[in-house]
Amino acid sequence: MIPLFVQYPRLRQQLPYVSLGDYPTPVQKLERLGNTLGIEHLYVKRDDLTGAVYGGNKPRKLEFLLGEALRANRTTVLTIGYAGSNHALATAIYAHHLGLRSISMLLRQPNARYVRSNLMLQHYFCAEMHHYESSPALLLGAVGLLARHRLQDRVSPLIIPAGGSSALGSIGYVNAALELKRQVEQGLLPTPNLIYVAAGTLGTAVGLMLGLQVCGLKSRVVSIRVATKWYATVGTIVRLYNRLNAFLHSEDSSFPRLDINERDIELRHEFFGMRYGLFTEQGQEAVALMKRREGIQLEGTYTGKTLAALIADGMTGRSQPDEVILFWNTYNSRNYDAVIANLDYRQLPEPLHWYFEHPVQQLDQNNGSTG
Ligand SMILES: *Cc1c(COP(=O)(O)O)cnc(C)c1O
Repeated sequence: MIPLFVQYPRLRQQLPYVSLGDYPTPVQKLERLGNTLGIEHLYVKRDDLTGAVYGGNKPRKLEFLLGEALRANRTTVLTIGYAGSNHALATAIYAHHLGLRSISMLLRQPNARYVRSNLMLQHYFCAEMHHYESSPALLLGAVGLLARHRLQDRVSPLIIPAGGSSALGSIGYVNAALELKRQVEQGLLPTPNLIYVAAGTLGTAVGLMLGLQVCGLKSRVVSIRVATKWYATVGTIVRLYNRLNAFLHSEDSSFPRLDINERDIELRHEFFGMRYGLFTEQGQEAVALMKRREGIQLEGTYTGKTLAALIADGMTGRSQPDEVILFWNTYNSRNYDAVIANLDYRQLPEPLHWYFEHPVQQLDQNNGSTG
């Protein structure tokens, strides 16, 4: 049973939940990368291995979100994301796995090879895909799609917010913090001083912050902003934290009510680059270094930028060489190259062909990695 339910049995009765993964995910010391960077105690949390079918940080959220879809007898889930969204893909995969239909409403983003593979895979896992050039166009499209489905199916699709970062979805990372605490108690790693994690729709970082506080693990979460700055703010973090905390407390009154101090929120902006989904030099160097030293595949939108921050902080003295540093890997590592090799992009809806008929961004060219 997941640690959250062991510690709060009432939550187990109350919350929708469907098991999708293998837990705990391993923690592993990164000896070679640590040596290269001069960081003695460098660890990784292998959330690339969460789901047996598809990993990364989304399965932990989907265990609650798709659990809700099943509990409410929905037949279809609808979610939104950028074209290469790992969240939209994970939703399509696990919805399919559970016999649910899925609809992905996708927004224009910079082109990259992982965008192509994610689009192909979503098609392979039977998602109904729609592409939009702007957020207003997507909103308008959502109204139309929902109306159509209500007419056809009588039940509306369950709407899963971008990145799965509702209060419900973020519970997955409250649990992940309790899981880490157990691993510390088992001696698998010392208590991390710093935990580096990508901050997109923020459910991962916020869930971790609340979970760490609840279990008394005194690690500082360093959130690396990878999404646009009007969305990913300290204010958004505080609001999601309070909603998540209030929700858990309302479902189980023994779950404590806590406060978050803005001083304890470290949201870092300097590794974002120009825009969402546009890679950075530093990020791509970090991706290449991780691959070379540890054989772990990262990507340029989230985890590359996050590792770049960890590396830069070691060099500037923001982190000390004797501190315990944990890199939380949020990127899937289950490999679908063989599946994709046999697919033709022309089977996708026509507006998505653009990603296959136009070159990928400059920094994604001429390097051997797939991210
Ligand atoms: C979605 C995603 C994130 C961001 O997580 P949020 O909870 O949205 O902040 C980080 N890394 C990867 C690989 C992701 O797909």
